[in-house]
Amino acid sequence: MTFIIMDLEWNNAYCRKIDGFMNEIIEIGAVKLNEHLEQVDTFSLFIKAQLGKRLRSRVKELTNITNADLSTGVPFTNAMAQFRRWCGDDTVTMTWGDTDIRVLIENFRYFNGVTVIPFLENYVNLQKYAQAFMNIEHADQIGLSAAAEKLGLNLADYSLHRALDDSLLTVDIFRKIYNPHMLSSYTLPCGEAFYSKITFKARMITDIHSPLVDQGKMVYYCDTCGVECERISDWRVVNKAFRAIFRCPECGQKVRFLIRFKEYYDHVDVKSSAVPFVEKKKLRARQAGETEPADQAEELL
Ligand SMILES: [Zn+2]
Repeated sequence: MTFIIMDLEWNNAYCRKIDGFMNEIIEIGAVKLNEHLEQVDTFSLFIKAQLGKRLRSRVKELTNITNADLSTGVPFTNAMAQFRRWCGDDTVTMTWGDTDIRVLIENFRYFNGVTVIPFLENYVNLQKYAQAFMNIEHADQIGLSAAAEKLGLNLADYSLHRALDDSLLTVDIFRKIYNPHMLSSYTLPCGEAFYSKITFKARMITDIHSPLVDQGKMVYYCDTCGVECERISDWRVVNKAFRAIFRCPECGQKVRFLIRFKEYYDHVDVKSSAVPFVEKKKLRARQAGETEPADQAEELL
């Protein structure tokens, strides 16, 4: 078993064929480790840009890659063939975050017309693994440098932001958090399900009749009384969330209840919130110091 720790640099370039921008890979760097985590070899190669002939200034600053460097690169297809030979078989590939993999898929699709990455056998999102290892919430994605510092590595020892440098830093992070048993549960075989999942685009569900909308969650319980409130308006879709007015049968309090369903590859995320509801007419009357008109929530929605 060999570990391949890989990092890519890319340049966002306009592409006439798709009439849009895509991240064109311009450099690949990687470190190969044996099962004892000893360094066996390194790989570093510039990829000749075919879409973005000039580097964006941000990429130049961030990576110190120059336009001259790029002209020494080899075309994507050729570079990937070299890399595949270098990787060999029986590998676990790792990257910090899975963006590199998404970008690779995009580039393979565009330049080679294939939807799979030929050298990818098994994959670990090392960022995800590291966060679990260090007990960091999934929501705050930790950067490579921040993780290194947290683990006591001295960043001054590394030159950063070139693909091979970042890979070498990632290797040292990996060595500090290596736990074979835990790692195995983060190692994904790169079959069909892997590609479906990684290329799945999360989306908000805006059709209230979708089977993914759990009707059992479309209810509101009064904050004060704890009883189920009655809905006194129709549901409306506002900013991709469902919204309705509810009234408590006990205390008469009205709230504007919002709930949204976001579909991910293997689950639906549900978030809801409620704010006290005051009818516009009442609000206007109150501001003008007039007597409040009767309830007209229905009419006002
Ligand atoms: Zn109540």
